Amino acid sequence: MKAAPFEYILADSLAHALELLERHGHEAKPIAGGQSLVPMMAMRLARPAVLLDINRLSELRQLAVRPGGVQMGATTPQRVVEHSAELARALPLVRDALRWVGHIQTRNRGTVGGSLVHADPAAELPLAAVVLDASLHLRSHAGGERRIAARDFFLGPMFTATGETECLVDLHWPVWSGEGIRTAFSEVSMRHGDFAMAAAACQLQLDADGVCRRASFGLGGLDGTPRAFPELAQQLVGRRIDARLADELAHAAVAQTEPGTDLHASADYRRHLGVVTLSRVLQQAAQGHTAALQP
Ligand SMILES: Cc1cc2nc3c(=O)[nH]c(=O)nc-3n(C[C@H](O)[C@H](O)[C@H](O)COP(=O)(O)OP(=O)(O)OC[C@H]3O[C@@H](n4cnc5c(N)ncnc54)[C@H](O)[C@@H]3O)c2cc1C
Repeated sequence: MKAAPFEYILADSLAHALELLERHGHEAKPIAGGQSLVPMMAMRLARPAVLLDINRLSELRQLAVRPGGVQMGATTPQRVVEHSAELARALPLVRDALRWVGHIQTRNRGTVGGSLVHADPAAELPLAAVVLDASLHLRSHAGGERRIAARDFFLGPMFTATGETECLVDLHWPVWSGEGIRTAFSEVSMRHGDFAMAAAACQLQLDADGVCRRASFGLGGLDGTPRAFPELAQQLVGRRIDARLADELAHAAVAQTEPGTDLHASADYRRHLGVVTLSRVLQQAAQGHTAALQP
């Protein structure tokens, strides 16, 4: 199918983009990499009358890696993040997650912000954002600006707290200080590059004796939004993570989810995959792995 007719406007500044979003309201949609929006338009699941191209705005591509955190412009291409050695050192979990996102071609065009606003429940970057407790910076012409935690941003499948006249400007990713940071990301999908039936991510900080000092982990693809489990993660602190503890925590996390059944997997199978992937990433990270299973 072809998209319904639309007007295309190339924004020449962020102020211009925000003014256009204000003027056209729900009729307009920003387009970043177009890797989700264009297929949605072709299937006529999205029919914006005005397509507002924000991809060339330098204001939305600023990147700053600082000791306490990374400031990342919303339209930073996924492939740029994946290939930055500086970002991989600061945010290894984001690099791990990106290796599972689509294909090289989609990551060349797809942006970090586009993935977050699209909010597919099985998408990898939203899961990394909730596990790392990222915060999102939204701006609008009339309403000014606001910051919102990733854990409050995802409201349901393809549904976020972004207002119809708001643009995601940038993200702040906290960076944990100190030594012994370990991360892992894993998922199960029909084929590599497909959306996950279940995905799991974790970041741990281990001391020299392998005792966990700080932990965060989460699951994607089971509920309508990616989930982090801060209370359960706290139970890892002060302990050495072995297979038994990892399994126990993975079962406890999955018990808090409510997966549905679809063409690819029953709810029970998704729960099983949730336990397997989460237990796997906890053990991988505890053993010092930092890379994803597949390239
Ligand atoms: C073959 C294929 C396989 C894929 N596999 C995966 C996968 O495994 N995992 C995965 O996560 N994704 C996958 N994707 C989707 C994808 O590549 C993207 O990561 C992403 O969802 C879209 O990013 P984008 O920049 O292209 O956003 P776009 O498609 O341009 O926009 C997506 C949505 O976000 C809105 N938007 C974009 N930027 C902003 C902003 N700054 N402020 C406000 N709203 C904004 C748009 O209006 C639109 O509603 C796949 C895509 C394809 C084509």
